[in-house]
Amino acid sequence: MNSFFIEFRDPLFSIIVFFSIIFAITFFSYWWSKYRRNEDSKYLDKFLKQFSTLPSKDELKVLISSGDLSEKSWLLLAHSYYKSGNYEKCIEIYNEILNLGASKNRQETMFLLGRTYLKAGFLERAKQIFLSILKTNPRTPEALKSLLLVYEQMRDYKSALDVLEPLDELNEDIFLESTYLKVMEILNNNKITQEEKSKKLLDIYINSHQLTYMLFEYLFLHNPSLAWEHFDHSKSELLSDILWKIEPKDLNLDIISQNGYLRELYSARGDVELAKSSSVFELDVLIKLEGKAKATLSFEYMCDDCKTVQPFVFHRCPSCHSIGSLYVECHLSKDFYKDIGEENNSFQ
Ligand SMILES: [Zn+2]
Repeated sequence: MNSFFIEFRDPLFSIIVFFSIIFAITFFSYWWSKYRRNEDSKYLDKFLKQFSTLPSKDELKVLISSGDLSEKSWLLLAHSYYKSGNYEKCIEIYNEILNLGASKNRQETMFLLGRTYLKAGFLERAKQIFLSILKTNPRTPEALKSLLLVYEQMRDYKSALDVLEPLDELNEDIFLESTYLKVMEILNNNKITQEEKSKKLLDIYINSHQLTYMLFEYLFLHNPSLAWEHFDHSKSELLSDILWKIEPKDLNLDIISQNGYLRELYSARGDVELAKSSSVFELDVLIKLEGKAKATLSFEYMCDDCKTVQPFVFHRCPSCHSIGSLYVECHLSKDFYKDIGEENNSFQ
């Protein structure tokens, strides 16, 4: 019976104790490293989570009022939110800076807040901010220009025209802005007929010779014969997309035959055969294809001032707010309407 028990002086007992200690140390070491790895991973996840979620409004309030970051740092952060289109966070930061009371750049922050409200489409709030700035600093051109944009977007053209008066007193050139706002007022006036609108717009063009694209876009759409009658040959390329989309029945062949660019444009479209080639690559290709391929022209619109390209027509650049800076670019593209037309014919 005693043979089943090992005495503590027995060498076998020492070996068992030795291996037990090694096992215990190895097990503890393995468990400890696994525990540390989990803890590190949890800490890293928690740390990275701070950057994947934006601070809440309350968190921002605490962070800004604590003063750990300078006001300039918060303004830079707000600007980066503005650039990335996160206007909500940008507005929260500006509002918290203004709520501090002792802001060093109160006027500038108010202007930036108004600009963000305008960009985000909160027009009434933007208006109140700019009016508030102008109440204390009436000779602030940037605030006046921004207020003008707010009124324009609100379609309150009378108030927008009133804003031009103080800008004029500050020696700002307001002629183009004034003409543009008058045209917008006429275009958005539902109380006058199309005939009256055409006449008023034509009068503006004859007196100013500005906003050619904007005015002829309306005239060619609603009164093509009047548009052709006052057509300025030197503006043919500027109006290329409008001219390209005119119905064949509304073309004036006498004027087209007198103008080199129009001869090429309508030969490329297949209405006439008055040009064999063109210095414009796209028109040259279409003339030589003679309608044998499903090709047409598509258009893009670039601002000549800031070089931003838009897929749609604009009269005031949405990026830099310039007026009359539109530049029309044409490209060759597939004629999908020709496909549809041929498919419809095949069913007949
Ligand atoms: Zn622009």
